[in-house]
Amino acid sequence: MANPVTQELLRRLPSVDALLQAKAVQEALAVQPRRLVLESIRQVLDALRKRILENPENAAHESDLDPQLLVGRILERLESLGSHTLMPVVNATGIVVHTNLGRSLLAAEAMERLQLLCAGYNNLEYDLGEGRRGSRYVHAEAILCELTGAKAALVVNNNAAAVLLVLNTLANGREVVVSRGQLVEIGGSFRIPDVMRSSGAVLKEVGTTNRTHPKDYEAGICGDTALLMKVHTSNYRIVGFTTGVGMEEMAAIAHRHGLPAIEDLGSGSFVDLSPFGLKGEPTVQDSVRAGADAVTFSGDKLLGGPQAGIIVGAREIVDRCKQNPLTRALRVDKMTLAALEATLRLYRDERGAIRQIPTLRMLAATPTELEERARSLASQIQQADRDRLLDVQVLPGFSQVGGGALPEQDIETRVVAVRSESIGTQKIEAALRSNTPPVIGRIEFDRCLLDVRTIQPDEFVAIREAFERMLAGTAGSR
Ligand SMILES: *Cc1c(COP(=O)(O)O)cnc(C)c1O
Repeated sequence: MANPVTQELLRRLPSVDALLQAKAVQEALAVQPRRLVLESIRQVLDALRKRILENPENAAHESDLDPQLLVGRILERLESLGSHTLMPVVNATGIVVHTNLGRSLLAAEAMERLQLLCAGYNNLEYDLGEGRRGSRYVHAEAILCELTGAKAALVVNNNAAAVLLVLNTLANGREVVVSRGQLVEIGGSFRIPDVMRSSGAVLKEVGTTNRTHPKDYEAGICGDTALLMKVHTSNYRIVGFTTGVGMEEMAAIAHRHGLPAIEDLGSGSFVDLSPFGLKGEPTVQDSVRAGADAVTFSGDKLLGGPQAGIIVGAREIVDRCKQNPLTRALRVDKMTLAALEATLRLYRDERGAIRQIPTLRMLAATPTELEERARSLASQIQQADRDRLLDVQVLPGFSQVGGGALPEQDIETRVVAVRSESIGTQKIEAALRSNTPPVIGRIEFDRCLLDVRTIQPDEFVAIREAFERMLAGTAGSR
């Protein structure tokens, strides 16, 4: 039984009906569903009731019961209940392929095709020449073959699905030979040994963590072997006393034994990124040329397209994958194909691709360019800071590719570093993150850093407004 003070407080809680009559709530009812308004009132009252019961002596309850304040809280609740959970954010982290922030930004050309193809009907599975049912898999195949030099191609939901499908198709119940140095775990619980098990294949580890030789592959092959597999060690590097076997050599061993050689490339770039200071990321073409019979890679990592898993390789292998019933479960929709085909077509002109595909454009941005952008952003932030509460500087820093690509290569960038004695770095970071749109930066050396490499030019205004709001909020509380 609650004590008399608590009972008195609970008795004074306004009723749902009383709150519904408040002018601001009535106005909200005119534009929002009644169910949502009632739910907001209920949540605010429940939360307050809980606080009173848990801590009856707290003097703050007096002011908590103020109707004005309650209505304010109800409107806040309503706004958050009514908003989308998936929303745009400003990526100021400098991580270009940021899986948590949606990975690749689509090129304008891809957005146009999406708009055109998804707002109306299309020939997704219709053969216009024959006037009958066709296959959705023809749409990206020809251009994938053209760009990679492979004989056949198939697109599924993501690269994890592509790996699963190839292994299930070629190695269900049989052994797959992989170097011990390549038993990768990618974020989001994709681990080669686990995917192998799910596919029905049996992992045969060969070599050691740091060194695997051709003779190790030879020794790993037996009557039960289905194929040899190479996995791109996307998110780590083994350095020091190391030896690996290249695709050319591994494929030659596989072929001598009448077996296929496959490679999970992870990112799967189409262009050589070394001119931008990014060394050692193999291209899909390299892997195909070296003799891989199937190569799998993501559509939304370095390729800069929509989420997809792409398989390119020998016609016979791709056809077997297409006939696997799993393919139906892993199939891509028209949105993916529309955006992917448009992105792939941009690669016909490599220089154009670097200009038009946001992922490549961001990676190619030079320090000079970034310096200029950082200065412009810094000056916008300073304009928002009329009371001179912020210390705003442009500093050199490092961006990352992300998405598991090129793990230990940092790319030189410029960041806007913001600090404030009176506000505090954590508070600045949190205020930016709770803005609409949220601005996601990072904290280093007690400064809030905004890396301009991943901030789009039209987002500068949103960042300035976020600072304006934050500073207006702190002015109110001082
Ligand atoms: C990222 C990655 C995957 C998974 O690709 P998704 O497209 O995210 O499913 C698989 N293998 C490697 C080596 C990777 O880097």
